[in-house]
This record gives sequence, structure tokens and C-alpha cells, in this order.
Amino acid sequence: MLAAIFHGNKKIEVCDYTLPILGTNELLIKVDSCGICGTDRHIFSGSAASSIPIILGHEYSGTIVDLANRSARFKIGDKVAIDPNIYCGYCSYCKKGNINFCENLNALGVTLNGGFAEHSIIPSSQAYILPDDFDLSIASFSEPLSCCLRGIEHADIKPGNTVVIIGGGSIGLMMVQLVKIRGASKIVLIEPDHSKQLLGVELGADFVLDSNEEKLFEHIDDLSNRHVDVVIECVGNKSTIEDAIKIAGKGSKVIIFGLAPKDQNISLNLQYIFLKELKIYNSYLNPFTFQSAVDLLVNKKIEVRKLISQQIHLKDIPDFFSNHTNSSNIKVQLINNQKEKL
Ligand SMILES: [Zn+2]
Ligand SMILES: [Zn+2]
Repeated sequence: MLAAIFHGNKKIEVCDYTLPILGTNELLIKVDSCGICGTDRHIFSGSAASSIPIILGHEYSGTIVDLANRSARFKIGDKVAIDPNIYCGYCSYCKKGNINFCENLNALGVTLNGGFAEHSIIPSSQAYILPDDFDLSIASFSEPLSCCLRGIEHADIKPGNTVVIIGGGSIGLMMVQLVKIRGASKIVLIEPDHSKQLLGVELGADFVLDSNEEKLFEHIDDLSNRHVDVVIECVGNKSTIEDAIKIAGKGSKVIIFGLAPKDQNISLNLQYIFLKELKIYNSYLNPFTFQSAVDLLVNKKIEVRKLISQQIHLKDIPDFFSNHTNSSNIKVQLINNQKEKL
């Protein structure tokens, strides 16, 4: 089969790859679609770690085309969403239910081969069955949505809260919808790109502010009566994280969701966070949230089709990683050659 193999040092090539023989409890998946994520870019550019060489891509879905052993749960032809994060189940963190801190964590597309390929071998524990008529391009959002759900758990939004979301990419636009479901009375999205701003309003933001606006902080104070309950940062860089802390109101929560490059630090004024009694959270992976993400997508509670701004084929992957600079793109998906583009 063909696969895009990452060799480190910004080198990715599409070449023939011979799949190993299926092991016990493994499934062979024909990849339908695989979202390209900020994490893939961080790995490509060297600012996040992975195994090397590796087939990247951890946001994917597909159809079962072979099974290692007869299974009551799966059959050939089943459509599945794939949770890439594989927890060991026996380390001390797993034993206490904190599986995202697993000491033996593996992830398809990061430490094990993932979805930038025609086929992928996965442990059957990672497969979530979908309805036969479900669009797998939508299913490929299960992983990022499941990670958003972890952030939303920390945010613990109460009906009537005012919530500010920084960044209107695919994560920010899913967060807008989740925050709305949780009953926020005012949702403010901060995003510079006009097309993303419009989509933000369509998906539930009550106000959209341009991050380059000169009086951004005064504007948020006016909109919120100086009372923001939750800020969710979905960009992952120093300046937007510092903005998030500045925007947070007294007693509020800040969720730093975006993954910043590994060499970035912020400085915090300790009296500032003391006087506001700020609660600052991160959100790491997707412990026990994957099934909920699948359910939200299958039952059409979260709109993700509109987030797909470009679909590409496997042969386009090297060029995409080397040259892509279109900041208006929301979610770019790799799709199977036989699948028609949207
Ligand atoms: Zn991702
Ligand atoms: Zn573990």
C-alpha cells in the first residue's frame, strides 16, 4: 500500500509500505479520511516528538477490511471511528482512572503508524462502530472533538456563564458549539480571519472580535460587564495564552487548550492571579470522552462539515506539509483516492 512516511527533519515522502501480518485482536482498516492537525505540523517541524520513521495522522476513520480473529463485535465492512490514544490499563495512573497520564501511552499517528496511508492496522480496542450510512469525513472529527470534551469538563460551564473563546480554527469552532450546549448565555469568539468569524456566528458565537482590534480588552470588559466566567484558549501560543489570563474575570477559569511549541514560556504575575483567584487548567488528550464525541457527531449535535475547508489526496501530503501557509484554512482532510471531494 501507499503511505506518507515521516523521517524526521521535515522530510515526508509517499512510498510503498508493506503492512505487517495482523496480530491478535487487530483490525485492518481502509482509511477513508484523516484530519490534519496542529500536532502533525508540530511533529513535522520538530516542535513535538514522535517515533521515526512513522506514518503520521491520528484523526481518522475508515472501514474494516480484515480481522485477525473472529469477533462478535466487528465484521468486515463495519465503519469505524478510531481513538488513536492507547492506554496500557496496568500502570498506576491507569489503575486510578487517569488514563491520559498512562506511563506506557502509545498513539496511532504519533508513536505507532497512523492514518496518512491507504490502510492502517489498529488494536480492536480503538475502534468505535458507526452507523452504516454515516459519513466518515464527519467521523474523523471524533478525536479532536473528544479532546475538546476533556477541556469542556474542566471548564465546567454553568448555564448563564459568559465564555470567551480565543481562536476560531476547527477546535475553537467546536468549542463554540459545546459551550452553547452547556448553556452559556454569552459566547465571545476572538478571531482575526473574516471567514472564520462568520462561521463562528453561524455556529453560535454571540459576538466576534478581531484579535488585532486595538481596544480588544476594553471591548470584552464592555460586553461582559467585566465578568467573564471562562476563557478557552484554542491557539497555543504565548501571546494568546497571556491574553486569556488577562481577559479572565475574578474567580474564573482559564482553559489553555492549544498546544504551544515546546520552547515557549509565559510569565505570570502572582498577585494578579492571587487577587482574581484564577483557576488555570490544561487539557491533555481524551480520557473516556471518545464515545461521547462519536455520539454527538452521529446524532448531529455538533456541526463539523462546515469546518472542512480543503480535502487532499495522499500524493499531496509532502507538498502540503512543506508549503502550506493558507491561514484561512480550518480543517484540511486527507481523503481516500476513491472518495469524491466535497
Ligand atoms: Zn489532533
Ligand atoms: Zn497506563
